[in-house]
Amino acid sequence: MLHDAPRHQPHSRHPCFDAAAGRFYGRIHLPVAPRCNIRCGYCNRSCDCVNESRPGVTSVVLEPEEAASRLEKALREMPFVSVAGIAGPGDPFCEPERTLRTLELIRRKHPDLELCLSSNGLNVRDFIPDLSGLEVHFMTVTMNAVSPDIGAQIYTDVRIGPDVLQGRDAAAALLERQMETIAGLKAKHLAVKVNTVLIPGVNDRHVCAVAQCAAKLGADLMNLIGIIPLPGTALQDVIPPSASHLARLRRTAAVFLPQMHHCRRCRADAAGLLADDRSCRQLPSTRCSTA
Ligand code: SF4
Ligand code: SF4
Repeated sequence: MLHDAPRHQPHSRHPCFDAAAGRFYGRIHLPVAPRCNIRCGYCNRSCDCVNESRPGVTSVVLEPEEAASRLEKALREMPFVSVAGIAGPGDPFCEPERTLRTLELIRRKHPDLELCLSSNGLNVRDFIPDLSGLEVHFMTVTMNAVSPDIGAQIYTDVRIGPDVLQGRDAAAALLERQMETIAGLKAKHLAVKVNTVLIPGVNDRHVCAVAQCAAKLGADLMNLIGIIPLPGTALQDVIPPSASHLARLRRTAAVFLPQMHHCRRCRADAAGLLADDRSCRQLPSTRCSTA
């Protein structure tokens, strides 16, 4: 902890849910979730260890035990880290056993550390009791559309068990699960942030509808993130939103939900203060490999 850090409610120790906490507290992302159960038209998880800093990028994929060891090392070097999270590089509930094992290992040793997850929300519902039992207090659900017609322009496919859905069916099934997830998490009193990737020409006129729906489900915060068009993705030709476009949409969505303004679009192996990342690249004792 840095000097004079406040210490009371979970929010006041999470640098993303409370911007003021970012002065004192940091987070670490443990990249134990390489696979995903959906395909978003903007996602590319092939990584450049050194040069890229964005969600979905990591220099290493860790086994749960390796993640627990990495956390110990990080806490020795950065005692101000108050939150351990899993944010990919894929989805934490595509292989939920890896995620739950990691959380169990951490919780056993660190009863005071805040735990946080970031998911597309497809496969969370059945694990909400586990998350509550592990005292996970924070969760982000990425919800880009509340209309299956718009969702169908964003998601290429959605896998549920042996079935791979596409088009409108895929988007409708994902939306239904996301709504159940947010409501279920709120019923267990987790703080829920909704991330929405802003894709001009696709969902930019739809942001208020997403905010309104998320607010009705009880979400606490919205994080509008401009798309990063990546080569080789279905949405590679989209022009990302300007800062003023993003600011304008945040103002309109704020009618329904408080907005996050300080997201750094972190890597899946980020560590440290939001303003001073020391990811795997700066924690050299960890093994580096491509996800
Ligand atoms: Fe990629 Fe995340 Fe979408 Fe999965 S949910 S395809 S990891 S952006
Ligand atoms: Fe926080 Fe945004 Fe970084 Fe996630 S990507 S840890 S919400 S700053």
